[in-house]
Amino acid sequence: MFVVGWDDTTRRFLIDLSEQKPGDVLSSALLLRQLTLPAIRTPDSPMEIGELSTSYVITTVQRRLYQARFRNAILDAYRERCAVCGLRIRPLLDAAHVVPDHDPKQVIEISEGIALCGTHLRAFDAHILCYDADYNVRIELPERLTIGEGERSMLLAFAGKRLELPKDQSLWPLECGGLPPP
Ligand SMILES: [Zn+2]
Repeated sequence: MFVVGWDDTTRRFLIDLSEQKPGDVLSSALLLRQLTLPAIRTPDSPMEIGELSTSYVITTVQRRLYQARFRNAILDAYRERCAVCGLRIRPLLDAAHVVPDHDPKQVIEISEGIALCGTHLRAFDAHILCYDADYNVRIELPERLTIGEGERSMLLAFAGKRLELPKDQSLWPLECGGLPPP
């Protein structure tokens, strides 16, 4: 959780509940998401701080449980492999959110996620990796990213490759909106 802003007139902090450090990523889409998050008013009394802490703990626990259920459901649907590189080591896999993360829901929508290994998940979240309407991998390296040839070819190795998707087409991920049109 990070404080990403402060409104002087209303005395409110702007809190980002994600684990992504503000400024980690060059994408303006993520920055916009962070800046449009609801503001949290500065508490006035110790009692109010206590109430806020309790509700924060409950919300955090609910979110963690939901994230665990979401991850399990997505990894099962993708037969425990990274949709990009096919890596099949469950502890190294995670479920990326294709649509912006929302409040915990009862029913997990498989089409709102995609199973990725750690590297491809970070690339996806950083808007370096996406896929087109035919589910082919797209890689877009930011110009400001200074990396060596080895890293560059490692990232580009799967560009154009078709994603490994669940057998049931109704579970395929929703459109990836992370990159500008080709
Ligand atoms: Zn991978």
